[in-house]
Amino acid sequence: MSKKAANDLQDLQYFGEYGGVNPSISDSSTYTFLSAKTMFDTFEGNTEGCYLYSRHSSPSNLYLGEALAALEGTETANVYASGMGAITSVILQLCNANEHIVSSRTVYGGTYAFMKNFLKKLHIKTSFLDITDLDAVAKSITPETKMIYCESVSNPLLEVADIAALSKIAKAHHIPLVVDNTFSPLSISPAKLGADIVVHSLTKFINGTSDAVAGVVCGTTDFCLSLKDVNSGAGMLLGSTLDSLRAASILKNMRTLHIRMKKHSENAQFLAEKFEADDLRIVYPGLPSHPGHLVMEDQMNPQYGFGGLLTMDVGSLKNANNLMERMQDRKLGYLAVSLGFYKTLFSAPGTSTSSEIPLEEQEEMGLGDGLIRFSIGLDDDIERTYELMKSCMQDLKLLHPNVEKV
Ligand code: PLP
Repeated sequence: MSKKAANDLQDLQYFGEYGGVNPSISDSSTYTFLSAKTMFDTFEGNTEGCYLYSRHSSPSNLYLGEALAALEGTETANVYASGMGAITSVILQLCNANEHIVSSRTVYGGTYAFMKNFLKKLHIKTSFLDITDLDAVAKSITPETKMIYCESVSNPLLEVADIAALSKIAKAHHIPLVVDNTFSPLSISPAKLGADIVVHSLTKFINGTSDAVAGVVCGTTDFCLSLKDVNSGAGMLLGSTLDSLRAASILKNMRTLHIRMKKHSENAQFLAEKFEADDLRIVYPGLPSHPGHLVMEDQMNPQYGFGGLLTMDVGSLKNANNLMERMQDRKLGYLAVSLGFYKTLFSAPGTSTSSEIPLEEQEEMGLGDGLIRFSIGLDDDIERTYELMKSCMQDLKLLHPNVEKV
């Protein structure tokens, strides 16, 4: 994150209606007008600072959007009721029937399913490819291609996209690069690296308390306004509106994002190094053994580390399930999907968040059924966590040289 963007975020300061230190929540779905003419102008989008109806915009959603635009260093940001609400709005705004998308093959299962299955209704085709193969990306672009889509650090395989290089390809073809930065808020600033549109599931690290579902699109003012257009905006017309109460609570949680990200990364780096030294099959972008380590190092904001996600392959689904159940019993975290919580969360993506991806494609991309995805928590004593996790693995004979394929 550039110093300027970090300072912009830090400097955001709002006063509540009665001088409160948090902005007042606008608890209304509709707004009054003293003059009918102003209502008409507001409907047409010509009246700054006037609110009409909360599906279009509300003060609380605008405050959160402003903080997220500062976080990503974009002109504007629109918030949505979910990450998928944000992603599907962007895709449907950019693509018409019979057009084409170039996407990384390792993306969140819901995004994959939307592109692969749902967009068939509109005859929109997606080429899923290895996003680290820049030649393949360039070659797959056709005159019908309307966007390149990737995750900065992918779910669940933690592949690192070279955003600056992808942006060059996108710019050469006059198409936007859309980057989902859910796994690496603060650590990576895609817009600074050339991404045109940045999306997030706020449900994860940005909110950080696993009590809300929300999403955001960060981009130019023109693009964000087009999403809100009353006649043709996918955001406005698909209706994935974030509730004002939730927008206000997410904004409050965002105040501690920088501290949390540093701790998630510090703990994940510690465990990844220890487990790798124990000969476990670990993938973490902060390890020099990770194929995308140098790309990440080059494009990251180092003070926030390599992120809170790591994967461990324990050979089989049975091993994975046994280990996850044991770790939950020992209070090391929760056997749950999602990420960015204060407690460690673990799940086997092949049978959960990536189950939309057919088995043969999972195999092709290296997503084995023994793969566990960990979202490492904010544990104060990570050395103790390591010892406890290791003892769970020893009990189950998962540590080298005892690894058994059950
Ligand atoms: N993008 C990524 C990388 C995700 O991991 C997820 C959810 O797991 C989403 C998008 C979708 O977000 P939401 O569940 O908030 O709709």
